This record gives sequence, structure tokens and C-alpha cells, in this order.
Amino acid sequence: MAEFRKCNNCNVDVSSDHANCPLCGKYLLDDKKNQKVKENEYSFPVYSMKEIHRAKWVNILRIMFWLAAVICVIVNLVWKTKPYFFPYVLTGLFVIMRVFVVPFSKKQNYTKQITGAAIIVSLFLIFIDAYDYYTLGTTFGWAMGYTVPFLLSAIVIASAIICLASRRSEVDMLKSVWILMIYSIIYFLIVILAFDNIAVWPSLVFMCVAVGWFLLLQVIKRNILWKELGKNFHI
Ligand SMILES: [Zn+2]
Repeated sequence: MAEFRKCNNCNVDVSSDHANCPLCGKYLLDDKKNQKVKENEYSFPVYSMKEIHRAKWVNILRIMFWLAAVICVIVNLVWKTKPYFFPYVLTGLFVIMRVFVVPFSKKQNYTKQITGAAIIVSLFLIFIDAYDYYTLGTTFGWAMGYTVPFLLSAIVIASAIICLASRRSEVDMLKSVWILMIYSIIYFLIVILAFDNIAVWPSLVFMCVAVGWFLLLQVIKRNILWKELGKNFHI
């Protein structure tokens, strides 16, 4: 005869085969010892309400951001300003969403998101730089020439230090340094080939920092590097 235990949380009867409640996922208490029943092969996966609430809030925020963006564009098209201010707001909202909200909606390690966030912020700064240049006639180059290379150099150094210091995120940070090294080379080429009057040395510093750290990590973390390459390219 099947035995049942009561879930104290939902007040439903659960077959004693199961260690936890199918409704709330909480582990049941053993009648005799008043201890949690041990997890077994019949256990249901335990989901956390915290995750579900977090996902809900991220969705609400996402909807609010979209509403704010649409309202802002409409307002700006009705009351025209010179230049239009909505590109600042739209790109700003996108950056906040992508850099601060989305990473926290996933259970992942935040360090994994650093590279993507840094590249998005760098593109945002270059966009503002270019927009101001075309609309207000300000000098182009503060972001492209100085801010972005310095910001990304700092991110490379931070990634490399985390890679050396933390075993848990070393692979992620190793990838971060790789990606930023490739980005730095492309960035440097764009700066010297496509623009005449932008400061070149910060981009050169960025490229040297990225390539330098990449080579240093290659020497120190050789084993992981090969293992990761094998995983990525199925060697
Ligand atoms: Zn329950």
C-alpha cells in the first residue's frame, strides 16, 4: 500500500516514494525523525521561487523600457528638438538593459558578461561621439580616440587579473582576453586606416596591452588554452 506524507507548505499528500513535493519542490519531512527526506531518484527538480520572481521583474522592466522608448520617440517627433534627443535615450536604454538588467536575469556568473558589456558600452560611446559630431558639429574623436581604448585596456587588465586569481572564472576570462585582443587589432586598424585626425597612441596602447596579456596568459595557462581550443574546434 502506498504511503503518503504531507507537504507542510502546500498541504497536499505526496507519495512516500518522493523526497520532495511536486508542487513547491520543498523537501518533505520524515514523520519520525522530523528531518528532510533525502534526495533520491524519484525526487522532482527543485526550482527556486527567487529565480521565477527575478525573471518576472526582468520582463516588467523590459516592457517599461520599451514603453519609455516608444513614448520618447513620439514626444520627440511631436516636439521637435535640434538635434533630436531620442537617439541618446534609445541607445542609453539599450545599454542599461543589456549591461545591467539582462546579465542579472541569468543565473550565470557576472564575470562572463564583462566582455560583451564592455564592447556594447564602447560602441555606445562612439555612437554618441559621432552623433554629436554630425548634429552639433563638435570635434569627433574623444570616444574613439581616448575613452574607448582606455576603458577597454582596463577591462583587458581586469580580465587577465581575474583569470590569474580565480580558478572558477579562468576559462571565461581567458576567452575575454582573446576576444578583446582581436577587437583591439581591428580597432587599431580602423583608427589608422579610416580616420586622419584621431589620436592613435591610445588605440596602440590598447592593442599592446591586449596582445601582451594574451601572450603572457598563453605562457602561464598553456594547458587550459589547448584544452579550450580542442573543445571549441573539436580537435
Ligand atoms: Zn508543497
